[in-house]
Amino acid sequence: MGTKGKEIVGVNVDELLKLLNKAYADEWLAYYQYWVGAKVAAGRMRGIIAGELKEHAEEELRHADMLVERMLQLGGKPLLTPEAILKETNCGYDAPEDPCTKKLLAQNIKGEQCAIATYKKLYDFVKGKDPITEKIILEILEDEVEHEEDLEAILDDMKTPVA
Ligand code: FE
Ligand code: FE
Ligand code: MG
Repeated sequence: MGTKGKEIVGVNVDELLKLLNKAYADEWLAYYQYWVGAKVAAGRMRGIIAGELKEHAEEELRHADMLVERMLQLGGKPLLTPEAILKETNCGYDAPEDPCTKKLLAQNIKGEQCAIATYKKLYDFVKGKDPITEKIILEILEDEVEHEEDLEAILDDMKTPVA
């Protein structure tokens, strides 16, 4: 990236790149967990829930894209193998072994809660020191908060007895 562009980054760039790569690993795993979850979903409200999971998958992939673009700008390199992704992830991967929609929602809510905690930490790390990364992280954090709320609202609906 440009000399001046790099100069205004007020945090340790290597440390920042490490954190961005770890978040990038989370996004790929979240993407796949949602994507494959949408495919195998079974049981109550399957159609609605599969649609929501598919939508979230696309948003997680967009987050991965935002993170990789920033890493490249900062002179970094994205993780290049699935092994590296599994090694660096903060939030891990919950395989949808049980395709029941309630179970899928619970797994993905847990994932979003980990994502929210991860991005809040990243946000605090760059806040006031790297405005470009701060803006990207804030945008992703907004999406993760929305994801959690969407899934919790569906799970709540499922608890309401059918009249
Ligand atoms: Fe995400
Ligand atoms: Fe999310
Ligand atoms: Mg949604």
